Amino acid sequence: MPVSQLYKRGDSGLAIQEFVQRLQGLGLLDKDHSDSFDQALDDAVRHFQQQRGLLVDGIVGPHTIRALDEAHWVLGDRLLTYQVSHLLRGDDIVTLQKRLTEMGFAPGRIDGIFGRQTFLAVQDFQRNVGLGADGTCGPATLSALDRLAKTVQGGAPTALREQAALSRLGATPAGRIIVVDAGHGGPDIGLSTGLCELSEADIAFDIATRIEGRLTALGASAFLSRPSDLDTELDEQTRAEFANQAGADLVISIHAESVDNAIANGVATYFYGTPTTHSTVGEQLAQLIQDEIVARTELLDGRVHDKTWDLLRWTTMPAVRVEIGYLSNPTDAARLADPGFRDAIADAIVIGVHRLFTEPA
Ligand SMILES: [Zn+2]
Repeated sequence: MPVSQLYKRGDSGLAIQEFVQRLQGLGLLDKDHSDSFDQALDDAVRHFQQQRGLLVDGIVGPHTIRALDEAHWVLGDRLLTYQVSHLLRGDDIVTLQKRLTEMGFAPGRIDGIFGRQTFLAVQDFQRNVGLGADGTCGPATLSALDRLAKTVQGGAPTALREQAALSRLGATPAGRIIVVDAGHGGPDIGLSTGLCELSEADIAFDIATRIEGRLTALGASAFLSRPSDLDTELDEQTRAEFANQAGADLVISIHAESVDNAIANGVATYFYGTPTTHSTVGEQLAQLIQDEIVARTELLDGRVHDKTWDLLRWTTMPAVRVEIGYLSNPTDAARLADPGFRDAIADAIVIGVHRLFTEPA
């Protein structure tokens, strides 16, 4: 739209045609209005100016033109990104900011400007629902917002946030897609010590299949990220891509540890996180799994930790990695060699997953 001119009653032309269309879109002008700047258009312009807090003079100048342009955007019309040098403005951003605020996120003032605070709030939201946290509001983020708008109502912001995180997952594991990632495989046997006849890759695959069986029995669609034998090594990014393609709701990765001394032992669970941001559902799942393993086995509690490992980072859904025992510790190694112990680990992990769905935060 031209921005340097003033338009008023009596004018006509292409620019007027655009004003008419914009005001019709906002429901301020009849659908069959002509392209002339008549009294009806003058009224509509004044109505619009009043709504927007502009000087009510019926004259369409730079401010009114910019406001008309901002007003015609509806959430979903365009990709909303954080453009530092030229901040996006519009009513679609007002809608986005309102929805984020309602759900307990903090986009800042509801001003229709996609600034840094809104960008950070979108990232926060994406992380909470297991989307890639790029801070851009596109189709996947919009559909997550739509889904949650229907389920999240009332309550304190923090509670809403947790609800937002979990409502995507539903009330039970049934019907959910869960990728179970057995670490290493093929030429990559992972860690191996003389203390256990099985390699880390063997142990991980054995536990992964036990988890898969139990999840399937619960009605979930469980997929292993790799077969028992591989010709080539499978890197973390490829595994993450597999989970993303499968549309997984969760990813559980199984590994074991080994260090240079025989004393270190225990289990630890990892989720995606940095000092400033983390996956809320990932952390919650990690804690549930960790708690169940520690309660059901003799393994020392190595607690949960945030990491930016590739599998955790590249997956677009909550993902955890469980490091079950130290193959360099004689006691842990003996435990891992025992099928009954591996069965107990699988049980603990599946109960942790079950609790994530059934016990809202
Ligand atoms: Zn490993």
